[in-house]
Amino acid sequence: MNQDTKNLIEDLFPPGFGDLSLMNKEIISIYGSLKSIFPAIFVNAANGKRIFNFCGWRPQNCIAGAKNSPHKQGLALDLHMPTKAQNEHLYDYMLKVGYSTHGFTRMEDRKVTIDQSKGGGWVHVDIVPLTDVQKGRTAQIINGIYVFMP
Ligand SMILES: [Zn+2]
Repeated sequence: MNQDTKNLIEDLFPPGFGDLSLMNKEIISIYGSLKSIFPAIFVNAANGKRIFNFCGWRPQNCIAGAKNSPHKQGLALDLHMPTKAQNEHLYDYMLKVGYSTHGFTRMEDRKVTIDQSKGGGWVHVDIVPLTDVQKGRTAQIINGIYVFMP
């Protein structure tokens, strides 16, 4: 396994898990293209240093986040940039072209993930098919992307 693959596994999985095939292939590829645009972007680990555990793939018994979270199906990423201002910029970018350029279908509303965050916050993106989305949620579609309250 080369160093890039090791770093990717470290970044997308909690400790003890290392099977890239647990994660949806398409979201891994989209994440790769985001890294070329935002070199400082990370999910769990930056420069090989672990900061979070459950911001990418989550095991079924994970108590972090929602019970039926798309993170447990390998369809979601909580993206991070080093500063809150950079996360805000990333959020705006995703809202603008996250669907048309990268194929993300949903984002969590920044009111919770950035504005109410004590730290720098995060940008949740996922590729859940919109046909699977529950009706009646507080959500709006902006530039093709479904933005919902977590
Ligand atoms: Zn998330």
